[in-house]
Amino acid sequence: MAVDLRARNTLGLPCQAHELQVITSLAQLQAGFPRWDEASLLVLAGGSNVVLPEVWPGRVLQPALRGRQVREEKEAVLIQVGAGEPWPELVRWTLAQGWSGLENLSDIPGWAGAAPLQNIGAYGVELADVLQEVQSVDRRDGRLRRWQRADCALSYRDSIFKGAARDTQVIAGITLRLPRRAQLHLDYGDLRAELDRMAVSTVDAQSVATAVSRLRARKLPDPALLGNAGSFFKNPIVSQAQADALARQEPGLVAHACAGGQKLAAAWLIDRCGLRGQGNGKVACHRDQALVLVNLGAATAGDVLAWAGHVQDCVRQRFAVELEIEPRVYASC
Ligand SMILES: Cc1cc2nc3c(=O)[nH]c(=O)nc-3n(C[C@H](O)[C@H](O)[C@H](O)COP(=O)(O)OP(=O)(O)OC[C@H]3O[C@@H](n4cnc5c(N)ncnc54)[C@H](O)[C@@H]3O)c2cc1C
Repeated sequence: MAVDLRARNTLGLPCQAHELQVITSLAQLQAGFPRWDEASLLVLAGGSNVVLPEVWPGRVLQPALRGRQVREEKEAVLIQVGAGEPWPELVRWTLAQGWSGLENLSDIPGWAGAAPLQNIGAYGVELADVLQEVQSVDRRDGRLRRWQRADCALSYRDSIFKGAARDTQVIAGITLRLPRRAQLHLDYGDLRAELDRMAVSTVDAQSVATAVSRLRARKLPDPALLGNAGSFFKNPIVSQAQADALARQEPGLVAHACAGGQKLAAAWLIDRCGLRGQGNGKVACHRDQALVLVNLGAATAGDVLAWAGHVQDCVRQRFAVELEIEPRVYASC
């Protein structure tokens, strides 16, 4: 039966799909094979990192498996979680148990099973820092597969599940490894300044989580009020030579050293093109955070991609830098 996915994606884009199947157990997921081996299958979790087309004529699968299993070891706590566990709740729960490691990843929307796809990251920490294993069902034969962290090819907003294994796996669960003596990561962006503002007597994982939540609430529009998918573009990585040349041409260029050269702040590039707060009537660059494209109310995927293309053109013309779209863009199949 046709289903409207508008309320199931944080950009709030209208999308009529042929059928939605919500799966809540591994047995159900495996029993569903070979239906998952269709080119027209769309795997959708929390919908916070997708651009959905107006019509999706195929099946939509929601891997909503819940559950948390804990194994305590001397040096670390291992937590196996179902793909459908909401990530922000999971982070809050680990902190309430007294386990640190996820505090910098507080309040990232979405479900646990989607976290490996783009190796979610924030405030200097990535999933790669805590991921032990991914469990998936292979869409081609229905078999359960286990991927150790090294198998997942995790890098900046990327993984094997967006590359060689794209559209071949349905992630059923993930296992996190939280070391008992995890170090706090306080050196990213405004985190230390926010902790100072909070004037806590002892900085611990819980206060870091609170600081991250406060920063995010100030900087990012709430999708419930203004549809968005978080950062719409990845921060581009350029060679040291290109970054040096740009810095000479553009005083104040924001860049950080990374593997492969320098990572440029995409928000700064867009802002510098005068696009912050600008839009096409349907979609705009958010007035406080240019990297976030917002749905002004009645946008479709076409409107979002048209504005994104304009932003990419402006940045290319001014800086000769290519902005890559971060969310997965689905075209009608
Ligand atoms: C306000 C806001 C802030 C954000 N901030 C951040 C941030 O700080 N850092 C960051 O990294 N991201 C951020 N994001 C992006 C997003 O939250 C993450 O990418 C998140 O992991 C997406 O989860 P989801 O459940 O919504 O996935 P969806 O959007 O439903 O899916 C994303 C992709 O993953 C695939 N997928 C999902 N689940 C599975 C599964 N079980 N098996 C196989 N494939 C699957 C889908 O097919 C799709 O291609 C933000 C988004 C918003 C709206």
